Amino acid sequence: MDGTALQFATDLLIDGQLLSGAGAAETILNPASGEALTQVAEASAEQIESAILASHRAFPAWSRTTPAQRADRLLAIADAIAQRADQLAALEALNCGKPLHLARQDDLTATIDVFRFFAGAVRCQTGQLAGEYLPGYTSMVRRDPVGVVASIAPWNYPLMMAAWKIAPALAAGNTLVFKPSEHTPLSILALAPVFADLLPAGVVNILCGGGDGVGSHLVGHAKVRMVSLTGDIVTGQKILQAAARTLKRTHLELGGKAPVIVCNDADLAAVVEGVRSYGYYNAGQDCTAACRIYAEKGIHDRLVAELGDAVASLRFARKRDADNEIGPLISQRQRDRVASFVERALGQPHIERVTGAAVHSGPGFYYQPTLLAGCRQSDEIVQREVFGPVVTVTRCDSVVQALDWANDSEYGLASSVWTQNLDKAMQVAARLQYGCTWINSHFMLVSEMPHGGLKRSGYGKDLSSDSLQDYSVVRHIMARHANEL
Ligand code: NAD
Repeated sequence: MDGTALQFATDLLIDGQLLSGAGAAETILNPASGEALTQVAEASAEQIESAILASHRAFPAWSRTTPAQRADRLLAIADAIAQRADQLAALEALNCGKPLHLARQDDLTATIDVFRFFAGAVRCQTGQLAGEYLPGYTSMVRRDPVGVVASIAPWNYPLMMAAWKIAPALAAGNTLVFKPSEHTPLSILALAPVFADLLPAGVVNILCGGGDGVGSHLVGHAKVRMVSLTGDIVTGQKILQAAARTLKRTHLELGGKAPVIVCNDADLAAVVEGVRSYGYYNAGQDCTAACRIYAEKGIHDRLVAELGDAVASLRFARKRDADNEIGPLISQRQRDRVASFVERALGQPHIERVTGAAVHSGPGFYYQPTLLAGCRQSDEIVQREVFGPVVTVTRCDSVVQALDWANDSEYGLASSVWTQNLDKAMQVAARLQYGCTWINSHFMLVSEMPHGGLKRSGYGKDLSSDSLQDYSVVRHIMARHANEL
């Protein structure tokens, strides 16, 4: 599928209707070529209002459906995505620049599985507390949906992030207004007719547009009872401030800077393969990317040498899709940002360029996979999220020092430890202040397990039944016994 074939019947889904946006048109680019793919019009203020009101109207009926009825709809959505998987993967690849085979194999598989998981999980939400805690009274605890949810997604995995937000919110009985990133609306727009066909009007609404316009309108609206964001820390802070005015629930999945602790006794080949794959997957535009290595001094030099060669062999910007392992950055702006991080880092005499560190010549927003060694704990490149194909290596005297430095970060999303000593691995994992720690691995997520951050990486869990709880409120019902039996 090329850009010229792209035509969308819709920019928006409001109250079951596929509509054109009445706001400004946004040009959507293919980051692999820099060329325009199509234009998508933003929602106007009136359209945003209509979507919120439609969602509000749809809430009472949807919230009273049974888990089995909602599961049925989620499974139907999963099947519809599966039927369109090739087309959706093609759009995802075009709009994000990512290799098509990876979009098909990874993004689409995960997206379908998330809908199927929440269809099952919501039917297992039983066993709420009930009993007599005061003589003459029976208490019970209910979990009910929150209400209208505004779901706001980033650009790195557009469809998968949509699934992470839409599936648990719907399963828990909420209605929602979904806003994709202004850079990557195409795959969710291709799915809009599926939501229109398979769900009652207003249960899922989709609005395109930027954060300051459409996003902040949603966050500020009194009828929106919860905002779920995956995005930048600064965006999370803005949303939190705006949500305070109407005391909304917030669910924030923010940035990351995942430490990778490599102990002297690690399986070096496994570390090299793991970081080559998961430090650079999606061109490093991943909040869990294995980007901050702390290597014990006994393994450090061998790791830098072998990893340097492995990273230099990463395939990108090749003609044949199947030959590519990574794609470009999402935009010129993001590539400039990555390039300036690396430039500032290399301005420090102690930092060594092992490989990469340059803009790739040719079309598209590619940046060379980059490995920097000799980095120190206080360096900006070690402390701040780059969100690009850049990995740093810092030499450590001991595992304890690696652990201290790993935790000396404002982020708390994901981490890993690599050692062949299980006892050591378990102790390090227990002390890492991160929402997820992998042992001798990195990056793998499953629908059944919670994903989410600590510290400034945010709070609230995606995936797992924990996410269902985040999208519901706990209520106490207390019944007085009129007559003793
Ligand atoms: P971003 O914060 O710029 O945008 C995310 C979304 O928020 C977009 O839809 C944007 O339009 C919207 N937005 C921006 N300002 C807003 C406002 N004031 N009010 C309401 N909505 C607003 O992030 P991005 O650049 O799209 O994505 C990259 C960031 O996302 C990185 O920091 C990355 O770490 C993070 N991320 C986190 C996870 C996770 O699971 N924790 C996953 C993927 C990405």
